[in-house]
Amino acid sequence: MHTEKTERLFQEFPELFRRERLIHGFACQDGWFELIRVLAGRLREHLVQYPHLKNLEIDKVQQRMGELQVKIRGGDAVVHNLIRKAEQESRLVCELDGKPAIGLFVCAPHWFRYLCETCSELHGYMTIEDYLSEEALATMAREQMQQTV
Ligand SMILES: [Zn+2]
Repeated sequence: MHTEKTERLFQEFPELFRRERLIHGFACQDGWFELIRVLAGRLREHLVQYPHLKNLEIDKVQQRMGELQVKIRGGDAVVHNLIRKAEQESRLVCELDGKPAIGLFVCAPHWFRYLCETCSELHGYMTIEDYLSEEALATMAREQMQQTV
């Protein structure tokens, strides 16, 4: 996430996002800024009602295999549910610009991103289905070669 948006999150939610913990900032693209902001707002609301949860530590906010992943220590079932919900919602939000995502795309071999139609076209990504079928074909080809050797 770009510095300007990262700073906004740090400044708006200092009790949740601590610089010394999130040394890599928010390891995803800008499109999830609003998603993370909404999650932080919900967490704050809950923590205000349950002050004993002040020990909640957010260790990592990142993209993993295309999805948002928030790693925490402490918290309660509500906190875990709010985070799980945001992680699931990330599949519906283009990671690059925040528009509705149309699917999981692959920039082979390592980058997985949920993208909107425009971004998927601009970046020439292929869908996860295409990727998996190409992988399957490549595996089959390798296996056939091994059999003929
Ligand atoms: Zn997009």
